Amino acid sequence: MNQENIYNNRLALYKKVEAVSQLPWYYIAAVDQYERNIRSARRDLPKANGLTGIYFSKEKWSGIINPDYDDTNPITIELFGGFGIDGNGDGKAERLNDEDVLATFVDYILQYGVDKDNFKIGLWNYYKRDKTVGIIMGKAAIYRHFGRLNLDSHAFPVPLSSNHSYRSTWGDARGWGGKRIHEGTDIFADYSVPVRATSYGIIEMKGWNRYGGWRIGIRDINNNYHYFAHLSGFSKDLKVGSIVEPGMLIGGVGSSGYGPPGTSGKFPPHLHYGMYKDNGYTEWSFDPYAHLRLWEQQERLRRQQK
Ligand SMILES: [Zn+2]
Repeated sequence: MNQENIYNNRLALYKKVEAVSQLPWYYIAAVDQYERNIRSARRDLPKANGLTGIYFSKEKWSGIINPDYDDTNPITIELFGGFGIDGNGDGKAERLNDEDVLATFVDYILQYGVDKDNFKIGLWNYYKRDKTVGIIMGKAAIYRHFGRLNLDSHAFPVPLSSNHSYRSTWGDARGWGGKRIHEGTDIFADYSVPVRATSYGIIEMKGWNRYGGWRIGIRDINNNYHYFAHLSGFSKDLKVGSIVEPGMLIGGVGSSGYGPPGTSGKFPPHLHYGMYKDNGYTEWSFDPYAHLRLWEQQERLRRQQK
C-alpha cells in the first residue's frame, strides 16, 4: 500500500468510528498519530505496523489478573477488567485488529464524553501527563483545520533566494553565553529576511526569552517541536494556538536576545533553528542540520519542476 492509500484507509476508518461513537474523527486521528509517534521514538514499545498506532499491552488488553494474556473473548476480558472490546462485530476482541483497537480506545473516552472538555479530561485520566494532553489537542486542531491526514511536506525556513549560510553546529559550546550546548543550527542571513514555518503545525509558544530574544515554537504532527529564535519580530495575527503550514511567514531574521525585551544587535543577525522530540515521557534536542539540508533540496526540486 502506498502512503496515500494508507492515509485514505486510515481516514475512512476514523470516520467509521466517528459515525458510531460521535467522537470527532480528528480527535481519534490525533491520539492515533500521537501513539504512532511515541512508538517510533521509543525502544520499549513495538513499532506500529497496522493502520492504527494506538498501543495496548497484552496485560492492559486482557486484564492484569486474566490467566490468559492472549484472551480474545470480550466477556472474559471484561470480567478480568481488561480494556479490549470487539469493534468490528466478529465476536472477538483482538489486540492487533485496527477496528477493535480504535473501538477500545473510544470506549474508554466515551465514559467521559465526546465534547472538547470531556475529551481532555478523558485524555488526562488515560495518560496522566499535561504535556501529552496538550500535544494531542494540538494535533486535533491541525487535522480539523486541514481536513486531511497527509501533512508531510516541509519548507526551508528562509527563502532559497535569500543570501544565507549555515553549517552543522549542534552540540557545540554556545557562542553567546549560556551553559547548555548549542541546541540547534544557526542560519545566517540579513535583517528582516522572511522566516517561514517549516511544517504543518500549531504555535505552542511565542514571546521573549532572555537568551532567545523574540522566539516562536511550533509543534508538528510528529511530536517534533520547532524552535525559531532571535527574530526581529513576528508576522501579524500569529498567536499561541494558530495553525501554520510550510512556507507561511512567521517573522523576520534578527539579532534579538541577551537582555531585557527588545535587546538587539549583540551578535550578527541569524535564525537559530532548534528541533526537539517528545516521546511521551520526556523531550530532547536533536540536530536539525540534516532536516534543513533535505528541506532545502526538496524545495529547490519543487521550484525546478514548476
Ligand atoms: Zn543558535
